[in-house]
Parts: sequence; structure tokens; C-alpha cells
Amino acid sequence: MNSKVTFLTVLGSTGSIGKSTLDVVARHPDKYRIFALTANQQDELLFAQCQQFLPQFAVLLDAAAAARLASKIKQAGLATEVLTGIEALEQVSADSQVDAVMAAIVGAAGLRPTLAAARAGKKILLANKETLVMAGRLFMDAVRQSGSPLLPIDSEHNAIFQSLPSNYAGNMAASGISKILLTASGGPFRNTPLSDLKNVTPAQACAHPNWTMGRKISVDSASMMNKGLEVIEAHWLFSAGADDIQVVVHPQSVIHSLVQYVDGSVLAQLGNPDMRTPIAYGLAYPERIDAGVAMLDLFKIARLDFVAPDFERFPCLALAYQALRAGGTAPSIMNAANEVAVEAFLNEQIAFLDIPRLINTALEKIPSHVINALDDVLNADAEARRVVAEIIAR
Ligand code: NAD
Ligand code: MG
Repeated sequence: MNSKVTFLTVLGSTGSIGKSTLDVVARHPDKYRIFALTANQQDELLFAQCQQFLPQFAVLLDAAAAARLASKIKQAGLATEVLTGIEALEQVSADSQVDAVMAAIVGAAGLRPTLAAARAGKKILLANKETLVMAGRLFMDAVRQSGSPLLPIDSEHNAIFQSLPSNYAGNMAASGISKILLTASGGPFRNTPLSDLKNVTPAQACAHPNWTMGRKISVDSASMMNKGLEVIEAHWLFSAGADDIQVVVHPQSVIHSLVQYVDGSVLAQLGNPDMRTPIAYGLAYPERIDAGVAMLDLFKIARLDFVAPDFERFPCLALAYQALRAGGTAPSIMNAANEVAVEAFLNEQIAFLDIPRLINTALEKIPSHVINALDDVLNADAEARRVVAEIIAR
């Protein structure tokens, strides 16, 4: 038994994953202490979290929000130090007092602090899939060099991790694995008539049938770009080729993913769709702790369905496979184009079906380059944002 208290930094503590993480942490005050909490600009919620968890640091990216938080912290007589800016996010991810970092910032903004945690050898609980999509090789190299324990928090990748041999070393053939089966709910538009998709609203796209999540990942789930990002995430986490990852639409979201072995065995992880399960798994690994999640009731579920993905309905999924196969900066370009397009869709500047169109245009217009350093990724990201923003503005 490891009785040492774990000091945790939660990047993106005000988000959906961040709040679920703090919910699990609050159940085990003997095991986990919060070193730092961070958010973009939600000073009210971050202040409430500081009052409850008494972190040493609170970081808000936004300077004005940080100033508001600092004054509230001072008034309340808390010892929490308030910082601002991207360097501060990196600092609280790499501090020598930190044992583990929950990487739960949404989007490309999560890349630098998550990479800082990897370079500093922290145990990383990885929810921010965009880090792997943008800079998979750089991140995995940093993890290997520093010896960071890496625990996938995305429910599918957590399920795959649990279904792989415990000594899995990144060689599927050597471990007798034939395929990774990545499940997908199909999102809110799985059965919407194709002709209606052009008129769907942000509210409809964000109404996920099984999961409550942040708005960006909710839209990604509706377009199935989320599954596309997850195919690329699985590629890097498990050294699996594009052809070794099969997406399986499974509307109940009970089987969180599966691993198929050459002898015909298929191992899977099941559970209620509640992110506190993979979060608790990552926090306690290799032990198990209570996550506050209701036990799975198979009699109530009664049936599980599976269908092949429809690439015509979900062109984003095809674009992601295409970007993965192209390699280099293509996935970074795709990711950035998607982020700008999703934001524009949420702001009602473009239609839902413009999202794959804009991504496709970005991939066609911007040549993919080999990634040698972080700047190659950041340049591709900036270029794709510029190109897509320009088309939207026209
Ligand atoms: P969210 O939008 O609910 O929360 C995002 C968090 O990141 C917030 O705390 C926000 O303040 C912070 N943030 C946003 N922009 C930032 C910036 N520029 N700089 C610093 N901080 C910033 O998102 P979420 O649903 O919790 O998702 C977080 C990550 O986890 C995403 O990468 C998502 O793909 C992944 N993920 C989420 C779920 C889920 O169930 N929500 C499941 C699997 C993976
Ligand atoms: Mg997922």
C-alpha cells in the first residue's frame, strides 16, 4: 500500500473533467491534496474551488480574471497564490512539489502545460487528447525520456489501457493483438435524416445522449471528429497503425472500448458513462478507489448494439484517418481548423456541415511538414487558424 499523499495539479479545474476530478479527490482527502487549480477566466468558480481545496496556487490565463480572483482570495484570508499566463500554467505543471497532473484544458491551449508536465517527469492523467493529436511524437518522446507514468483518461483509451496486457510495450503483434476496437456513441445525430443536418443548432449538437461534457467536445461528438481525434490519440498511446484501429458505433456507451487478440479473445472494459471511473482509475493506478459512480446494472441495460460507422454522415471521421495517414503536421492542421470551425458554429457564424468543409479546405491548402520541434506544430496550428478564420470572415 502506498500511503503517501499525492500532490495534484488540475489543469482546467473549472471544466467538466476538472470538476469530476475534484469530485473524486474530495472523496479521498487522505490520499490526494491539490497543489494547483487552473482555468481560463472563470474566477468565481475557481474561487469556490480554492475555498474548498486550499491549493498553493491558482492560475487564470486571463489577467483581469486573475486580478479579480486575487482580491477575493485576499479578502477571504486564503494563502493561495494567484498567477496568470501560459508560463504560470507550465510552472504549476512542472513544480518539484507536484506528483501528478490532470491535463484537462480543452483544445490546443492544453499542449504547452501538458508537455511541461511530461518533460518534468510528472505522472500525467491525460484528458486533453488534442496534445497527442497535435504533437504526438514530441509528447510521447518527452514521456519516455522523463519516465512520466502516462494514464489515459479519455474513457475509450482508459478502457483500452485496462484491456491491454499489463506489460504492453507498444508492439501489438508481439502481444498477440489483432485490433483495437474503439467504441463511439454516434452522438446526437446518429439517426437524424441527412437532409436535416445542415440546419442543426449548437443546442442540438451539445445535447449528447449519454455524456455531459464541455461544449467543444460535445460538438466534436456530434460531428464524430471526437472519434477521429481519438483514433489519432490511440495511434500515439498504443503505437497502433490507422488500419489497426476500428471504430465501432455502440449507442449505449457501456462498453468503453475493446482489444481483440489473435486467438479470438476480445477483452473490454464496461461501466456506466461517468468520467469519474477513468479519473479514479488514473488517480489510484494500480490500485482501485471509490469513484462515486453507480454500479453497472446489466439487467437494466438488457441489450447492447453495434454498427459500423457511416463515413458519409460523419466526414470528419474520414478526415481524421486521412490526416493520420498523411502524418507530419496534417493532424495539427486538422485540429486547429476544427477548433476554429467549432467555435464559429457555437457562435452561430457557420452551419454544422461547414465544419468538415473548412477542415478539408485547410488540409488541402496547407502543406503538411515533418515535425522536428514544437515550433513546427505551433506554426501549423497558427497557419490553419488564420486560413479558416479568413474563410469564415468572408
Ligand atoms: P470544458 O470546456 O468543460 O473545460 C475546459 C477547461 O479548460 C476549463 O477549466 C477552462 O477554463 C480551461 N480552458 C479553456 N481554454 C483555456 C485556455 N486557453 N487556457 C487555459 N485553460 C483553458 O472541457 P472538458 O469537457 O472538461 O474537456 C477537457 C478536455 O478533456 C478536452 O481535451 C476533452 O477533449 C477531454 N475529454 C473530455 C471528456 C468529457 O467527458 N468532458 C471526456 C474525454 C476527454
Ligand atoms: Mg472519449
